[in-house]
Amino acid sequence: MQVVADIAAVRRARHADPSATWGLVPTMGFLHEGHLSLVRQARRDNSRVGVSIFVNPAQFQNPDDLATYPRDPERDLALLKQEGVDLVWTPPPELVYPPGYQTYIHVEEVSRPLEGAARPGHFRGVATVVAKLMNVFQPQRVYFGQKDAQQVAVVKHLVEDLNFPLTVVSCPTVREPDGLAMSSRNVLLSPQVRPHATCLFRALQAGSDAFAQGESQAEALRAVMRTVVNATPMARIDYVSVAHPETLAELDVVEAAAPRSSRGAALLSLAAFVDEVRLIDNLTVGEPACAD
Ligand code: AMP
Repeated sequence: MQVVADIAAVRRARHADPSATWGLVPTMGFLHEGHLSLVRQARRDNSRVGVSIFVNPAQFQNPDDLATYPRDPERDLALLKQEGVDLVWTPPPELVYPPGYQTYIHVEEVSRPLEGAARPGHFRGVATVVAKLMNVFQPQRVYFGQKDAQQVAVVKHLVEDLNFPLTVVSCPTVREPDGLAMSSRNVLLSPQVRPHATCLFRALQAGSDAFAQGESQAEALRAVMRTVVNATPMARIDYVSVAHPETLAELDVVEAAAPRSSRGAALLSLAAFVDEVRLIDNLTVGEPACAD
């Protein structure tokens, strides 16, 4: 496994074998099974796997959040080596954003609601760094987790609108045994509050159950989700959403997706502070049954 910091070294490794196919997994490090599930999917789909580890300052609004973001580069590299990763890029921030840097990418509509509304400028930072990573690596496929569903939607638009010649692969959310979505931020939860962090997934499940039992009014589904979080000690809702899975526009009524559609009927999502830690999670409801 090659570990490199500079751009020329990434390009040399990437183009060393013209017959190789590359999958890229962008990460901010402090790796867990969620990240590794993306690496394993990339390993299955491609002859070479590249991983970037970069805590991207441009997607943080709050300097404290950036400063306290958990990091453990040595452990990360050991895990990636075990997974048979070929190339790891760990650029210093001043290489990605040198003095005088002034080019940013703004994916408009799909960046606006949800995380975009709660964290203004967040997706401008995400789209910019992902475009740079894709441009440097030039992979055939790039892997993202459905855990960050809006990020997947933003990146899909970015790739389509700017004609990047690659496929965006979205991988399922990996959860702890009690349902909490794995996240690098979970380490910030104290042992006292950790059990309460399951309220996000429980809220999504309650919404999903209500939909399965015939509730199609989006506001009723939001109310079901809110009730679960509001009943949880130390939890405070940031937002609760029932939205179109692709446009992310809030729905009034959840209508079943067409039988052969590649998407579900609605994306249930929420953000909540558990104690002081902000967590997000989502679940798609009304996935069309497999055609075959
Ligand atoms: P991050 O390091 O948080 O930027 O995440 C890097 C990638 O891993 C993103 O595409 C995330 O969506 C994905 N990811 C993070 N947590 C999970 C999870 N629990 N399951 C699946 N993918 C995840």
